[in-house]
Amino acid sequence: MNLTIFNTLTGKKEEFKPLNPPSVGLYVCGPTVYGDPHLGHARPAITFDLLFRLLKYSGYKVRYVRNITDVGHMESDADEGEDKIAKKARLEQLEPMEVVQHYTIRYHDAMRLLNVLPPSIEPRASGHIIEQIELVKRILQNGYAYESNGSIYFDVEKYHKKYNYGKLSGRVIEDMMSGNRELEGQDEKRNSIDFALWKRATPEHIMRWPSPWGDGFPGWHVECSAMSTKYLGEPFDIHGGGMDLLFPHHECEIAQSVAAGGKEAVRYWMHNNMITINGQKMGKSLGNFITLEELFTGNHKMLDEAYSPMTIRFFILQAHYRSTLDFSNEALQAAGKGLNRLMAAFKLIDRIKPSDKSTVDVNDLSERAFAALYDDMNSPIAIAVLFDWVRIINSAAEGKESMTQSDLKSLKDTFRALTVDILGLQDDADEGSKYAELTGSLIEMILAMRQQAKESKDFATSDRLRDQLTQLGIKIKDRKDGADWEL
Ligand code: ZN
Repeated sequence: MNLTIFNTLTGKKEEFKPLNPPSVGLYVCGPTVYGDPHLGHARPAITFDLLFRLLKYSGYKVRYVRNITDVGHMESDADEGEDKIAKKARLEQLEPMEVVQHYTIRYHDAMRLLNVLPPSIEPRASGHIIEQIELVKRILQNGYAYESNGSIYFDVEKYHKKYNYGKLSGRVIEDMMSGNRELEGQDEKRNSIDFALWKRATPEHIMRWPSPWGDGFPGWHVECSAMSTKYLGEPFDIHGGGMDLLFPHHECEIAQSVAAGGKEAVRYWMHNNMITINGQKMGKSLGNFITLEELFTGNHKMLDEAYSPMTIRFFILQAHYRSTLDFSNEALQAAGKGLNRLMAAFKLIDRIKPSDKSTVDVNDLSERAFAALYDDMNSPIAIAVLFDWVRIINSAAEGKESMTQSDLKSLKDTFRALTVDILGLQDDADEGSKYAELTGSLIEMILAMRQQAKESKDFATSDRLRDQLTQLGIKIKDRKDGADWEL
């Protein structure tokens, strides 16, 4: 079966033909690590995790590169304000790399809970300064950038005379320039739509590297052009990201590659749509900004309850990645119920007694579900087909339909491939909570032993048990008749 994907660059669904099959190069813009991972991080991660899994399942050898932005992402798209990480470090009185480390770990933890597979390579912008300087040098040599007060800017107007700036986003350069022409006297740019390739570091700026133009740091768009082509070659197959990155980030990436090497670096551009909350755009100022941890714990004024990572994952997969997706308590509760029904049916297959004859055609599941997934990753249709089979499985368990031994096996294999391998769904009641339960019982057991020791005045043992538990990070609060504990 052939995979078709919607290429943002052509605005059409196209058959996916990798440049060097069976190898596939996939690059996805990762997070800027200056805050807790939130809902906005979950959707691109899960969308491209589905693509990664689907390609691997189809037999491709995928090199998946997802970067960590740890320098150069300014507060505004117009290269103004502070570097997001430098600002956080200043406010928290931390070394910028402490901020980066802290939020990278938080991001990884959230991704693991969402069952998002780690990428093959996860390069950091700060680890690729040399590559970025080299790229800026090439753009300068080709005449599409200029130096201004120790910073280097991309000359959009000059580039647009020969190439097409705006071809990905569909924006019209004349519209962007008109009304924007008035530049303040102290502005270093020739034109307000020019973007920074390299920024001069002010004396107090900590994240700085030497360059041919003095101490500074790279512009945000440069890192993705430099790192994607370093690891995937030029051109490479697929570049993905959220639709919010289409302009200026990805438009600038195209311009950089063309200005540096005369040709585009990316063959297929894919973008996932955005998440809204109760119909509104998510934003800190709107009070509807929800981190993933808040979702998992239910600790947010907008949430009626905690939602498991798998509920979030399933909810995201229930919408096509190019549609907007609206979060609400009702929708999440429905997703949770749906996921439980799906996973329960999967387990029920084992309990169906085989018959001599099948009254249903088990090939239907794989044919229709895979046709949907290969059609621009239409996960909602694939899930709807799975639910058709949830009904059939339930009927078969009640003896209203029948299946042969080999049909049951094939049904189970297909069900597993679709739900576990490709959609990446896990039963919430699985491993994690089993271990949590076991840990709790073990702690209770040790506390009971300690209580016994105390009652028989063996204080040496009771103190030792308390100290050892404390060392393991378990906080103990004594009561009259026992003790409470928390991790
Ligand atoms: Zn990027």
